[in-house]
Amino acid sequence: MQKEKALLEVRNLKVGFATDSGPILAVNDVSFSVNKGEIVAIVGESGSGKSVSANSIMRLIAPPGSIEGGKILFDGKDLVTASPKEMRAIRGNDISMIFQEPMTSLNPLFIVGDQIEESIRLHQKVSRKQAKEKAIEMLQKVGIPRAEKVYSSYPHLLSGGMRQRVMIAMALSCNPRLLIADEPTTALDVTIQAQILELMKDLIRAQDTSIILITHDLGVVAEMADRVIVMYAGQVVEEANVHNLFKEPNHPYTKGLLDSTPKIHEMYEELISIEGTVPSPSEMPSGCFFHPRCPKAMPECSLKTPQLLTMENDRSVRCLLYTNQKEKEAVNQ
Ligand code: SF4
Repeated sequence: MQKEKALLEVRNLKVGFATDSGPILAVNDVSFSVNKGEIVAIVGESGSGKSVSANSIMRLIAPPGSIEGGKILFDGKDLVTASPKEMRAIRGNDISMIFQEPMTSLNPLFIVGDQIEESIRLHQKVSRKQAKEKAIEMLQKVGIPRAEKVYSSYPHLLSGGMRQRVMIAMALSCNPRLLIADEPTTALDVTIQAQILELMKDLIRAQDTSIILITHDLGVVAEMADRVIVMYAGQVVEEANVHNLFKEPNHPYTKGLLDSTPKIHEMYEELISIEGTVPSPSEMPSGCFFHPRCPKAMPECSLKTPQLLTMENDRSVRCLLYTNQKEKEAVNQ
C-alpha cells in the first residue's frame, strides 16, 4: 500500500532558549508527521515540549527562544525559512490555532462578531453581509445559544466556556487545512468539554481538516485522536496509533501516564501517579532523560542515551529495553 503523503512533516526540530545559566533545548530533535484529515495528539506533562513544538509550527517562538534546527514542511514548504509575509498568509488561512486561554487570541476592545467577521473577510472573498451571516452561523455551529446577542458582545462579558467556543468558531471559520488545538477544552466543565470535542470532530471531518491536538488529558486523546505522540523532556518517547497505544503502551512513561488516568468502568481502581517531575531543560539527567522516575530503570539507563526505535505496526519507542531486545534478536538470527 502506498503511504499517504503528509500534510505536515516536522523533521529533527530543535528549539532553544537563552537563559542566565546558558542556552537550553526545550525541543530536542523532534520529528513527526500529520496526514490529511488525520487527528494527531501530542501528549505529555507540562514541560515536555509539546506546546513549544506547536508554537514553532506557527513560528510563534519569541526571543529569547528560537528554532535552532530542523525543518517544518507544510505541503512541502519549509515554514522555518518562510518570510514573515508568507507566514502571515499561512496563519489563520491554512493553519489556525486554538489556545487554552481564549483571551490570548480575542481582542478585548472589539465585539466578538467583528473579530470573527474580520477573520472571514481576510481569507475569503465575501461581502460584509455574507461575512456577518457566516459569523453568526459559526457561533450557532459551536453551540452558542442566542448567537446574535453573543455576536454583539465584548469578550470580557462572556464566560470562559463561551469565549472558548467563540475562538473555535473563529479558528474554523476560514476552513483551515491544519488546526492546532493547545489544551482546547481544559478550562471547560466535563459536559461542555464533551460537546465541544464532538463538535470539533464533526466540523473537522466535514472540512477534511487535519488536527494537532495538544493535551495532557488521555480521555480527550481516546475520544479524538487517530495517532498519538508521547513527549517527555523535549523528546518524542513513543508514537503509535491510538488503539495500539492504549491497548499496549511500550514506553514506561506512557504506561505511567495511562496508569494515572481514571478509566470508565474502573472507578474504584487505585490510580498510580508517576513519581517526581519533568526535569528542567537546564538540569537534564544523563542517559535516558526518564531514568530518575522510571520503574523499569536499569544501571545502564543513566549512562546510555536511547534512540527512537522503529517497531512493527508503524510504532516507535525510545527505551533501552527495546534496543536491548532488538540487539539480542539480531545476534540470534
Ligand atoms: Fe526506563 Fe531505561 Fe527505558 Fe529509560 S531507557 S525508559 S530508564 S527502561
